Amino acid sequence: MTEDARNVVIIGTGPAGYTAAIYAARANLKPVVFAGAQPGGQLTITTEVENFPGFPHGVMGPELMEKFREQAVRFGTEIHYETVNSVELTKSRPFTVQSSDRSMKASTVIIATGASARLLGLPREAEFMGRGLSACATCDGFFFRGKEIIVVGGGDSAMEEANFLTRFASKVTLVHRREEFRASKIMLDRARSNPKISFVLNREPIAYEGQPDAGGFTGLKVRNTKTGQFEVIESQGCFLAIGHVPNTALLNGQLPLDSKGYLVTVPGSSNTSIPGVFACGDVQDSYYRQAVTAAGSGCMAAIDAERFLESEGH
Ligand code: NAP
Repeated sequence: MTEDARNVVIIGTGPAGYTAAIYAARANLKPVVFAGAQPGGQLTITTEVENFPGFPHGVMGPELMEKFREQAVRFGTEIHYETVNSVELTKSRPFTVQSSDRSMKASTVIIATGASARLLGLPREAEFMGRGLSACATCDGFFFRGKEIIVVGGGDSAMEEANFLTRFASKVTLVHRREEFRASKIMLDRARSNPKISFVLNREPIAYEGQPDAGGFTGLKVRNTKTGQFEVIESQGCFLAIGHVPNTALLNGQLPLDSKGYLVTVPGSSNTSIPGVFACGDVQDSYYRQAVTAAGSGCMAAIDAERFLESEGH
């Protein structure tokens, strides 16, 4: 027996995915949500969120995402705590969504898979992750109390993480591959005036030093981009803050991406190039990348999906 197609299948549970679910559920579309590898998304690994409207005294990221979830469930959203591995969007309708545990037919699909921290791609990176190497200061900073650490990057994230980590670390060395920064002046000035932060510029990361199993992380080998010389910056930990990559692997090339790898949507809508497939949140936004803009675009996606179903005589 073939299972009937679901009206709306939403992939991802950040602010975009859950908002799409709230709107679709209130439109009586009985949406199905796949939570993905990190249920709740990036806000679940932050601390206090000060700029989400409606919380004048701030709210902790995980608590905010739990409220999103509760609101989606209250109106009848069905959530599967599974990761979607692939989707079939081009060969037939309804679409097919394949998770780790099931295959599901969908009349419309909303892609809200977000973005993940970019890594350097150096040897032994996976082995060092969680053993001296991290891409999340708010998650792991606590483990580096009194230690000397490195932050890699030259954008706002690197400045923010470096500043945050001085709460724990005795010394933070910010390693950047150029002399110019992408960081805004205010963030850069804040880091520069922090006595615990020193800057090492024009250094390109080459290798992680130490043994993940014994002795741990001991330093970052870098190449001086001016002189070509190699050196090791000694430290007991290293945080990568070199941007994010949109999570589009599950699409397997079925939808066009822009030059930065983000999903392309028709401006002013959540429409992708395939009718019935919509995208919202960070997977299609390299510019704003805010919880509130992601939530807004999730609302757009649900309304676009509802109108599409209506136009199809649903
Ligand atoms: P970003 O602005 O893209 O900066 C990434 C940094 O990592 C760049 O300095 C880049 O170097 C470096 N980098 C990238 N790949 C590298 C590699 N393979 N090896 C060495 N270095 C590498 O990313 P972001 O800092 O995450 O910021 C993203 C967006 O979020 C920005 O719009 C930012 O303003 C915003 N944001 C805002 C706040 C805030 O206002 N509180 C906080 C965080 C982020 P190059 O410069 O040489 O390319």
